[in-house]
Amino acid sequence: MSISINAAFDSGNIVVESVDGTSARLSIRKDRDSDFFQWFHFRVACTVGDALDLAITGLSASAYPDGWPDYAVCASSDREHWFRLDTSYDSAAGTLTVRHTAESPILWLAYFAPYSMERHHDLVASVAECEGVTYRCLGTSLEGQPIDCLEMGTGDTQVWLYARQHPGESMAEWWMEGALEKLTDPADPHARSLRQKCRFHIIPNMNPDGSCRGHLRTNFAGVNLNREWDNPTPERSPEVLAARNAMDATGVDWAMDVHGDEAIPAVFLAGFEGIPSLKAGQTEKYKAFQSALAANTPDFQVDLGYVESAPGKANLSMSTTQLAERFGAVSMTIEMPFKDNRDLPDPVQGWSPERSKLLAHACLATLDQLI
Ligand code: ZN
Repeated sequence: MSISINAAFDSGNIVVESVDGTSARLSIRKDRDSDFFQWFHFRVACTVGDALDLAITGLSASAYPDGWPDYAVCASSDREHWFRLDTSYDSAAGTLTVRHTAESPILWLAYFAPYSMERHHDLVASVAECEGVTYRCLGTSLEGQPIDCLEMGTGDTQVWLYARQHPGESMAEWWMEGALEKLTDPADPHARSLRQKCRFHIIPNMNPDGSCRGHLRTNFAGVNLNREWDNPTPERSPEVLAARNAMDATGVDWAMDVHGDEAIPAVFLAGFEGIPSLKAGQTEKYKAFQSALAANTPDFQVDLGYVESAPGKANLSMSTTQLAERFGAVSMTIEMPFKDNRDLPDPVQGWSPERSKLLAHACLATLDQLI
């Protein structure tokens, strides 16, 4: 009996090229109206004991070919616990191959543990009910989904946390779940302290359309939202326009934009070095946060990361630089790996939802030290 493969569900993405017994040749669908592709999420119905041989092809043309060497596919049989499968990558052919003996009648595979829109709504509903939390809908996406924002805290320091501009970076919303759990824990000392000092504005998912559709990087219109912050429009990027208008109304003192990086096997920060109006204190606070976070968790490091932009050369279409320039904010992009933290690897899970949530806890504890 042949295996059957399906991706017709929330954040599903796979194209079945051919199936032969327990082997399949697959490819990844491009984000709608764009050339980006890298995110995949599908299920395999099989028989326990099947020798699955799954090849995802055409990856030389994917958004980040460097993301595939040393990467291992995420899998789950219960859609709760996600683990890694033995994976190999043939760079010349652009083919990622998983060979796995099936231990369950249905196996779910994904680029990273998915964060479904159902779970998003569960998260927003449960946090909105917590003492001292205000829910706001900032606007709607191109397909009419709400851009949800949760607010809390009584202080004057305006802190904006937002995630999943790039919808395939699902670790970003796991980070958000960790952040929201900590901030709404009445017993948590950092949360109590932060809520006295700050007003938090938290957008767990900036790109619900791309999330549903199984996109890597863009919204319904094929637009990369993190290149829209200098000039968002209702036609292309209402998600960004809604968030930026709300930020204009409150101001921004600290901001964190949460992402995943395909190629670099580490957690790292990217800042705003090249903005035209860079202030000394602004950079010092950013560097102090970076050092303190490295001291607070061995899952963070400062050696690997992006090249800093030269003075005056920042790309102001990106949120981190736009908010640093626009508000004088201490603004940062935090990147988690699709692969693993090479300095502290976990061969079973790799980088995981659990570690994403704990990283959020460390970031908030660090923020409490710095504010
Ligand atoms: Zn990203």
